[in-house]
This record gives sequence, C-alpha cells and structure tokens, in this order.
Amino acid sequence: MKSSHGGDFSNGELQRFGNIELSPSAGVLNYGQGLFEGLKAYRKEDGSILLFRPEENALRMRSGAERMCMPSPTVDQFVEAVKATVAANKRWVPPSGKGSLYIRPLLMGSGAVLGLAPSPEYTFLIYVSPVGNYFKEGIAPINLVIEHELHRATPGGTGGVKTIGNYAAVLKAQSAAKAKGYSDILYLDCVHKKYLEEVSSCNIFVVKGNVISTPAIKGTILPGITRKSIIDVARSLGYEVEERFVAVDELLEADEVFCTGTAVVVSPVGSVTYLGKRTSYGDGVGVVSQQLYSVLTRLQMGLIEDKMNWTVSLS
Ligand code: PMP
Repeated sequence: MKSSHGGDFSNGELQRFGNIELSPSAGVLNYGQGLFEGLKAYRKEDGSILLFRPEENALRMRSGAERMCMPSPTVDQFVEAVKATVAANKRWVPPSGKGSLYIRPLLMGSGAVLGLAPSPEYTFLIYVSPVGNYFKEGIAPINLVIEHELHRATPGGTGGVKTIGNYAAVLKAQSAAKAKGYSDILYLDCVHKKYLEEVSSCNIFVVKGNVISTPAIKGTILPGITRKSIIDVARSLGYEVEERFVAVDELLEADEVFCTGTAVVVSPVGSVTYLGKRTSYGDGVGVVSQQLYSVLTRLQMGLIEDKMNWTVSLS
C-alpha cells in the first residue's frame, strides 16, 4: 500500500509489490530521512487473523517522525493502512503455529532536495512477507559478543527512533561478529562503556532471582514493543521488573539473560563474550525466558485470553 503527499496520508491505495520510482535527490537517499516499523499478523486456529498492538507501532513511528523532521500518518491512518494491506494479503498469512505475516511500514522523504533540508514530500508505504517462526523447534539460545569500539547510538542522536541510518551503523560490527560465529552484538553505552544498551535489533533483559532488569529507555535504545509487553507480562506473573542502568558486571553474574523483539519474540541468551572471555548461562534456555516466550507467543496467536486487550482482530 502506498500514499505519497506533502504530509497528508489520508488517501493511500493498494498496489502490487514492485519497484518504486524515486528522484536521485530524494531526501531519503541523500540525507537519510527514513523510518520503518515491523509488526506481525498471526492466524488463529479458527482461521481468523490477529495483529499485535499495531497502534504502538503507529505511535513509535510518530515519535520517530518528530525527531527526523517528517510528517507522519495519524494512529488511525497507520492502523487502517496496516489492516487494509493484511486484508489484501490474507492468503499469505501462514496457518496457525506455522509462522506469521511480517508487516513492514516505511515512511520516507521522497521529494527532491539538494541542499541539506527536510524533504518537501513524503511517502508512506507498507509491504508484507510471510515468515517462519524464529525458532523452528522450541526456543534455542543465541550467543552474543559485547562490542566496545563501535557504537550504534550516542546521547542526543537518533538511537531512540527506528530510523534507517541506525541499522547501517551496526552492519560492520554485526558482520564481523557473525563471521566469528556469534549470533549478534550487545552494545554498551558510549559514555561510560559499562552499561548495557541493546542488541542490533532487540532489547536485553537480565534475570537474578525473582528480579528482571532491563536498561531504561533514555534516548539511545529503541523502545521495543515486545520489551514493553514483556515487562507487563512478567509483572503479571509475579516477577519484579526494574528499568534502570544495568552494568555489564550484573549481566555476567546473572542467572539468565534474554532478548526481546518482534522477530525473536523472547530469545534466551546462551553465552556472552566480553573482552575475549565467554560467560555461559546454564544450558542456555532459562525457565524465565521459556515461560515468558510461551505466554507471549500464545497470546499473540490467540491461544490464551487476551486480558490486556493487545490483539486486534482483522474483521
Ligand atoms: N531494538 C532495535 C534496535 C530494534 O531494531 C528492534 C526491532 N524493532 C527492537 C529493539 C525490538 O523492538 P520491537 O519489540 O518493537 O520489535
């Protein structure tokens, strides 16, 4: 679905997936004025389709747009556009339990600019793709390495919003880590170089006893929607959840560590390598990660009662 205007996103239209035309001097190509979102549609056992908290993605895109000097769709426009796109692609939503339809909304400066300035025109589009479950057979641990030379975000920068440039910034470190066999990178804050930030595309949690800690949202990490949901689920299950500065030492002494994100849902961390030393967490799949994964995935797939009213049914 595509809508392209000076800042009015009220009349989008459905189009077949394909290339789009852009001026070589489009704001997004020259000055990085681009934001994206990621969410999923799940098929229930009765065949109907559920979206998970789409208004949260709309709100995050709106706050990102404000930071990137862009107009953005209203929450209603965003959610209606997501619904229309999924409805038009219903046949691509996998059967219940077999995966989901990944939904990628994009907002970009599509007007031509030469000197540094906000684009005079913007395009909001959404494309979708079926994806399998991140874990094919039960959940499996990932292995992280802590990066301390390269940073993905600096105070006052754009790390707190989902802008395209943040992802370009992590490619080098992420490729190097993957070449060495790690699943991904864990970033530290770039001022003290000792507080946890996040992984390239997910948030991090540290478990010690009944307390689950996660770095507070302070401008350099993305306010993940899975993070926010897991905090509520964990509290409802009786865990104490703290959002604060979490030092790397605490991570190394934790009982259990896990990551959260739309793609990974809840992903247990099997080991963290810091300054060449590897710390492992038991057999890697801790009971807390397993429990939270199970509750959240069942909620998203409509297998348990949605007491929080998070799922939106596609009528
Ligand atoms: N951090 C970053 C940098 C991300 O790209 C993502 C994925 N959107 C997340 C965290 C997790 O956010 P969410 O739970 O909304 O997918």
